[in-house]
Amino acid sequence: MRPLTEQDIRNSFVNCSKGEAKRLAVPRDLDERPWDDLDFLGWRDPGAPDRSYLVTERAGDLVGIALRFPSSHRGFLHRSMCSLCLTTHRGGGVSLMTARKAGAAGREGNSVGVYMCTDLACSLYVRGKKVPDSGARFEESLTLEEQIARATGNLAAFMDKLYA
Ligand SMILES: [Zn+2]
Repeated sequence: MRPLTEQDIRNSFVNCSKGEAKRLAVPRDLDERPWDDLDFLGWRDPGAPDRSYLVTERAGDLVGIALRFPSSHRGFLHRSMCSLCLTTHRGGGVSLMTARKAGAAGREGNSVGVYMCTDLACSLYVRGKKVPDSGARFEESLTLEEQIARATGNLAAFMDKLYA
C-alpha cells in the first residue's frame, strides 16, 4: 500500500468519533514501515491494551477501523488461526477483535467480530517476512500472489460487514 501520514490515518477512521480519531495513538515510526509489503497498516495502542487499529484501502478510499479485543487471555485456544491470513498461532497469537459498525448501525451499538493475528502483522506472515511462534506457516499450494489476494479478499469481506 502507499505510505500514509499521520493525517491520512486520523482522517480515515469510519467507526469511531472524530474526537477519538484525533486522540488515538498513531505509530511514531511511519517512515520506517515496510509499506511495499503491507496490505494494511495495523497497530496496537500502547496506552490502551484492549485496542488496536487498522487502516487499508477500500475502493480507492482509505478506511481506518478501531478494534477492541479482550485484555484477558482466559479461554484462549492453544492454537488458533487468523481468519484473514490463515496463519496459525499458539496462545494469544490470535484474538477475537470486534469493530463497531460504520455509521448509524455502529451508533446503535452493533459490531462485527473477526479472529485475527493479535499483532496485526498478517501482511508480513503471508509474505514470509515474519514467522509465527508456532513455527513456519503450513505449506500452501497457492502462489504468493494468490495468498495475498486471499488475505486481502478476507479483509475486504470483513470490511463489507462493517457497512452491512
Ligand atoms: Zn493474520
